[in-house]
Order: sequence, then C-alpha cells, then structure tokens
Amino acid sequence: MRRSPKPDLPPPPELPSFRVEPDVDDSREEPSILDRHAGTQLSRHDAPLEDEAIDADAAKVVRRLERAGFQAYLVGGCVRDLLLGGRPKDFDVATSARPDDVRALFRNCRIIGRRFRLAHVLFGGGKIVEVATFRRNPGETDLEDDLLIRSDNVFGEAHEDALRRDFTINALFYDLDRRQVLDWCGGMPDIQRRSIRTIGEPVVRFREDPVRILRAIKFAARLDLGIEPYVYDAMVASRLELARAARPRLFEEILRLMRAGGAHRSMWLLWEVGAMAVLMPELAAFLDDDEATEDGSLRFFRKMDAIDRKTLDEGVLDDVVLMTALFYEPLEEAASGVRDIMGAVNDFLEPVIERIAMPRRIADGVRRIMTMVPRILQGRIGRFARTDLFLPALDVAEIVLHSRGQSTAPIQALRREALPPVTREHRRPSSFPRQRGARR
Ligand code: ATP
Ligand code: MG
Repeated sequence: MRRSPKPDLPPPPELPSFRVEPDVDDSREEPSILDRHAGTQLSRHDAPLEDEAIDADAAKVVRRLERAGFQAYLVGGCVRDLLLGGRPKDFDVATSARPDDVRALFRNCRIIGRRFRLAHVLFGGGKIVEVATFRRNPGETDLEDDLLIRSDNVFGEAHEDALRRDFTINALFYDLDRRQVLDWCGGMPDIQRRSIRTIGEPVVRFREDPVRILRAIKFAARLDLGIEPYVYDAMVASRLELARAARPRLFEEILRLMRAGGAHRSMWLLWEVGAMAVLMPELAAFLDDDEATEDGSLRFFRKMDAIDRKTLDEGVLDDVVLMTALFYEPLEEAASGVRDIMGAVNDFLEPVIERIAMPRRIADGVRRIMTMVPRILQGRIGRFARTDLFLPALDVAEIVLHSRGQSTAPIQALRREALPPVTREHRRPSSFPRQRGARR
C-alpha cells in the first residue's frame, strides 16, 4: 500500500543537477575538487541551503577538516531534514579523516565506540557533532551464513559510505563550500517525491538489519513521506525477521516511534505492516479484536493522538509515560478484578520485557503507575501525590481520559496543585544532548 504524500505539503524545489563524468580530464595536472568522486556515478545538485539553518558548530567542524586536507560533508538525517524544510535534530559529519586524525584536530573531542570508532566533538550546552570516517558495507566474506550484519567496521570511500546507508533519502551528502548535495543513489528525486526507498533490494536490506523496517515506519510517520509499494511489500514480507534483531535496539526504536509527534501514524503503520504482531502481539491482538474491546482501536488511536498533541505542546514525554500509555488497555484488562494489581501487571509484562528488552527500571515504573492511575481517575490521590511518579501518572491519566473522550480538567487541576509554575522536572529536552541507538 502506498501512502501518498499529503496534497497540501509543498514538494521541495526542483533542483538543477549534473553528473560527474566517469572520465577524468587528464590534461590537467592536479585533479580538481570536482573530480574527487570521478567514476562513482555521482549526481551533484546545487542546493543552496539557508546558512542560518545549518548548525554553526557543525559547519566549523566540516571546514576545519577540509582545511586540514580531508573530505568532510554533512550527512544523513540533517541533510534530509533540511531539504524537506524541517529542523534537524542533530548534525552529523562524514569524513575521510580517521578517528585519530579528528582527535588531533579538535581539542574538545572524544572517541567513542569499540566496534566502530566515532569522534564526538563537544560544544557548549551538551551539543555533540558526531564525526564518522567513511565506511563501507562489509564484503561477502564478512557475512555469516545468513545476511544479518554483525559487524560494519570497514573504512571506505565517500560513495561507499553513502551506499551502505539504509534509505536513499538518508544517504545524501552536503558539500558546504560548493553548496551542493552529493547523491550516489537517487536520494534527491526521492526527496522531491517525498518517498521512502531502500538503497538496493529491500528484502536484502531488511534481512541484513530488520530494525530498518521500524526506521522506515518512523520516517514515514514523522516526516509524512510515502513508502514505495515494493518497499512496503518487502517490509511486510520481512516482518518476522524483527524477532532476530538486537532487542535493546527494538525497544529504543519503539520509543522513537512514539517520541517525535508521529505516534498515531507510526503505530498504525506498525500494525498494518504486521510488525506489531511480532513485537507486541498483546497490542496487536487488542487492536484486531474491536468487537470484544468495544472500539478499543478507536480509543487506542485517540490515545496516540493525545501523545502526539502533548509532545508537540510540551516536548518529549517520559519513556515510562509512553510505555504505560502504549499498553494501558491490555494492562488494565489484565489487572481488572484482581486484588494484586502489581502481580497481574508483572505477569503481563514478563514476556514483553523478554521480547523487546524493556528495561527493568521502565517496567517498575509501569507497574507503579498502573496502581496509581485508577485511583487518580477516581479522585483518590492519597499519599502517592508526593512520589516521584506522580507527575508521570498524571500524564498517563490525562492521555487515558482523552482516549475515552472525557474531560481532562480534573488532571490539569491536580497538576497545578502538585506543581508550582516551574519547568516539569521529568521532561527531557527533545534535541541536544542526544540519545543514540546501539548500532548506526
Ligand atoms: P534522526 O533524525 O531520527 O536522527 P537519522 O536519519 O539521523 O534520523 P540516525 O539513527 O541518527 O538517523 O542515523 C544517522 C544516519 O546513519 C542515517 O541517516 C543513515 O544514513 C545511517 N543509518 C542509521 N541507521 C542505519 C541502519 N540501520 N542501516 C543503515 N544505515 C543507517
Ligand atoms: Mg540523526
């Protein structure tokens, strides 16, 4: 199924482009900078992005690397978001410099990662510009019998670094000096069509790393993009592979689906693709059985709307709030008519913890909030008003009331009482400092 882009969204501007010819003119003594990528099937697109939109510190990093004689480009999510007219969450740099070269150039730099070493250049306010050396997909010999990528730490050239990435829209490089987008895989036309396409065969790319299925859903939902039909079909066909992915990455990616203001569309796509039945069968079963749950799916998606609205108004919600809200109805069902709510919630969560590696800390929070919310909804607050989970529990109660189409005014009143007009402590800033997934 193809989700066509919304008609009211303007397409990004058509940009002039030209291809670097494979043959280098050897009458020149030194290859010019434009010949750098000769023979790599590169399309260059003139794309003068607004200077103000580009993070000044990231630009500084790129320029210093270039001055030292290395290639350096802005890459990935930031280029994609700028071209789509959005505000990037963070700015990443790809370079020909090795991590030690980067460290030698920047005092405020630390090398992270054991498997693949990356440089983090640190700036004020906790801002990090990530600088990664070009790398390529491991060759055939590095792959085990199956296709699952377990190691990806082989340095490479710029075009190889573009091609190892997941989606064409994520593989664009921005050349700051020449104000050009470098495109090795047709990402620019896909940006213009607002369309998600894997680099290479989708079934292969999803089998290599099934988390890419969740990433496709995240980008479609968050950026309001369409998914190419053959890519969508491959997502459906590959969904069972998700059971083989590293479980902490699954958990993190599920949170990301809910954090960025696109929870409703993300969960809808997750359900439709059939990935929800693999990752969270208790939720999929709940949504599948509308008759027994009396419009449970309607309530569920209204809950997701409430999450999206709160996220846009107030910033990213606490992970415990997101997880409790996500599973609220099935949890409520498991706990109904039971004296030992904690125990019932525990039994419900055990397989979830196992399947998607929900951290114990989050599971404990979910358990405690599940004992508080029914009492908050009945107006019986008691001693837990002073506990650290009271505000998160109020958030969940508000989301639940919203899903039932009931007034949330009582919750606002409780929140005002509990909280003098200061910043909400349990909120995490939505951009820098950033959180990173395990494998990138
Ligand atoms: P976001 O705005 O959510 O940070 P992003 O595209 O920057 O989106 P990151 O997870 O920060 O996503 O990854 C940075 C870049 O690394 C991506 O744009 C993509 O090019 C590459 N990448 C990330 N994850 C994968 C993956 N699983 N397989 C291949 N390439 C990946
Ligand atoms: Mg990113």
